Amino acid sequence: MPARADEAFVLTRHAYRERDLVVVLLTRASGIVRVLARRARGIRAPLAAALEPLSLVRVSYFEKPTRELGNLDEATAVRSAYPLASSPPGWAAGQVVAELALTFCQPGQRAEAAFRLVDHCVERLLAGGDPLTVAHYAELWFVKLGGVFPELDRCGVCGEALPPGGRSFDPSDGTFTCAAHRPARGSLRIGDAGVEWLRSAIRLPLERLTAAPPEDAATLLQSVRRRFTERDLLSWRYLTQTTGSGEHG
Ligand SMILES: [Zn+2]
Repeated sequence: MPARADEAFVLTRHAYRERDLVVVLLTRASGIVRVLARRARGIRAPLAAALEPLSLVRVSYFEKPTRELGNLDEATAVRSAYPLASSPPGWAAGQVVAELALTFCQPGQRAEAAFRLVDHCVERLLAGGDPLTVAHYAELWFVKLGGVFPELDRCGVCGEALPPGGRSFDPSDGTFTCAAHRPARGSLRIGDAGVEWLRSAIRLPLERLTAAPPEDAATLLQSVRRRFTERDLLSWRYLTQTTGSGEHG
């Protein structure tokens, strides 16, 4: 049983047997890892506090090549995400980030960029950054890392450069289109402000992104992400409830 030591985010966890937890980690070096944490339930369990969702922890675990579930040996908190619990929108945005990571990262694949993305997002939320901005930034970057974000400045059909300003998006192909290749029905118009938001979110560090996207850009992100996930994300519903923002799921 090879032992590994790594840094990881706790993405989710659930009860297993009477006193154990199954924990899904996003590790820096090995991507998604599922481990069994023995005797980790209950207030006196020393591991329980370190294994709060979105905590950054230093872990050591044993991998089992023949079985999917590894064994967690140790977990010590590097940075707790517990302060998010005092702000329902911040906590909800953190859950969106975690659910996106669970959806886009596959076990057995390295996911260092995803690890850094989660790190930036949680750090920003802990610093009091706007929850909706962080959640949409995470959504944009997970679809980019997943290779499904369309090229912003070229028509997906003919490859021609698109003029500056607003443009059309074809949800069925998941690409932007020039005027000649805009589908007869169902195309989504992204205004100047929406295009600029997308451009800023791609170019700028998260802390310099000062607002959530306009509705058209948010709808586009949802459409692109659903092409990959093929379902709603449950955590988005809670985020829109706690922030009173528009439907997104
Ligand atoms: Zn075209």
